[in-house]
Amino acid sequence: RVYILRIAPLLEEGAPVGSSRFYVLSFRDISELRRLDRMRSDFVANASHELRTPLASLRGFIETIQGPAKGDAKAQEKFLGIMLDQATRMSRLVDDLLSLSRLELKSHIAPDQRVDLVPVVAHVRDALLPLANDLGVDIRLHLPEGKVDVIGDRDELVQVVENLIENACKYGQEGEVVDVHLTKQEGQPVEFSVVDRGPGIPAEHVPRLTERFYRVSVADSRSKKGTGLGLAIVKHILTRHRARLIVKSEIGKGTTFTVRF
Ligand code: ADP
Repeated sequence: RVYILRIAPLLEEGAPVGSSRFYVLSFRDISELRRLDRMRSDFVANASHELRTPLASLRGFIETIQGPAKGDAKAQEKFLGIMLDQATRMSRLVDDLLSLSRLELKSHIAPDQRVDLVPVVAHVRDALLPLANDLGVDIRLHLPEGKVDVIGDRDELVQVVENLIENACKYGQEGEVVDVHLTKQEGQPVEFSVVDRGPGIPAEHVPRLTERFYRVSVADSRSKKGTGLGLAIVKHILTRHRARLIVKSEIGKGTTFTVRF
């Protein structure tokens, strides 16, 4: 822990400086401030590193196109494709960084809209169908009759639902089903859960999934496109909504992410 210690003379009014017989000793625990400071600079260092990698690669390809690959239309075509991928990766990263910073700015304002989760989930499923088709994944919805209202921010809840279903498609099993459940039972909290049949997440990684830039490097999970910020954003949004994220995973069987409102 880190403390600031202050010693100040206790002077009676009008007493000459240096005449005090009493002193005030104060301690202030600044460990938390230090920790936040360190987290902030780690975050900036990580973000810069993540942006630097695609930038370095872009520069490399531009130099190659200007130099050794000059006049080689086939090579240029290939390199431009890779450059587009890198630029897309940078855009995603900047979008995610902006999302996090906007959430931090809003942290003192509680979300207060009445949001029906049924159309939110249906809309996100439709938006993710092209990705799911590419990956050969079928997204199955299990929605209750009627509305499932929660108090929140619609756009932020869309982001949560989107991130969890997208992850299930990306890290789940190709050609398998992703089941999405929304449940509302009398006297029970509203729950939203996404079940995949992927390789699962080793237990030691689970508590760290919502850390910024944390990605699990098992099997081919690292090769999937991502920023490592998705679940950090989800966690941030859920904290604002006083909702919990529960992760259950079994190696070789799959993973279930549940949001309990
Ligand atoms: P990203 O997907 O951009 O890498 P996230 O914060 O959304 O970042 O996820 C962090 C990591 O958690 C992922 O890189 C992946 O390794 C792991 N992960 C997330 N969802 C799943 C899932 N459904 N199954 C297996 N691993 C997952």
